[in-house]
Amino acid sequence: MFELPEIAVLSKQINSTLTGKIVRAGSLGNSPHKFVWYNRSDEEFAGLTAEKRVGESWARGRWLFTPLEPGYVLLLGECGGKMLYHAQGGEMPKKYHLCLHFQDDSFFTVTTQMWGAMELYEEGQERLREYVRDMRTTPAEPGFSYDYFDRLVDEVVQGEKRSVKGLLTQDQIVPGLGNAIAQDIMFRARLHPKRAVGDLNAEQRRTLYDAIRGTVEEVTERGGRCDETDLFGNPGGYARLMDKNAAGAPCPECGTAVEKMQYLGGACYFCPSCQAP
Ligand SMILES: [Zn+2]
Repeated sequence: MFELPEIAVLSKQINSTLTGKIVRAGSLGNSPHKFVWYNRSDEEFAGLTAEKRVGESWARGRWLFTPLEPGYVLLLGECGGKMLYHAQGGEMPKKYHLCLHFQDDSFFTVTTQMWGAMELYEEGQERLREYVRDMRTTPAEPGFSYDYFDRLVDEVVQGEKRSVKGLLTQDQIVPGLGNAIAQDIMFRARLHPKRAVGDLNAEQRRTLYDAIRGTVEEVTERGGRCDETDLFGNPGGYARLMDKNAAGAPCPECGTAVEKMQYLGGACYFCPSCQAP
């Protein structure tokens, strides 16, 4: 799944590659998939995207917004898989769920592995979509200050009991993070995934905040995670510290064997010594 850094990288690459191109033909793919959320029929999508010009894209959390001017915004959200640019003469993927062919014969395809939204809105309506409308401040935005995070944690601990992994990956409390980047954030903060957020002292809150900001920035600067690909099909340059390759291997900090456990709908990799419960 793309997480916030990968979407930020894709948005930047789309701006330097696709902006200004004119759509010749848009389609919603060749491979019906029940977990792709569309809001248009194929005919409608083709009709509304024809002759439109690609504007400046932006990213928020795991959502990518691409204006098709005049009047429309393409919304790609919560996707895993591939978003690819193909130069003139490039090969079409066997399966794809969205394609924009441009007048210069280059094209853009999106293929999802699990699920994802691929929706076309009248300009302005995209901001009202569920999950976008109520999205909290993301760690890539200037508003994600320590004061903001401190208040957010205060709010979270008022409700039901929540663990550090729950804070990072559930209910979009910190939008844009997913199970992959969360592993490295928890390792850098030296916090066990099951550690209760309510038990963190002021220093640990600060360390967790710094780990969120620092990890998001570093993964973005390196072009995303190395197990995801960018607009040109190249893997990102960030190798996770805590992933399936780390399980059983020595912790990079202390040498203790890294452990794996299933928790909150995904695998966690952690150092039982650095991240003692
Ligand atoms: Zn360790």
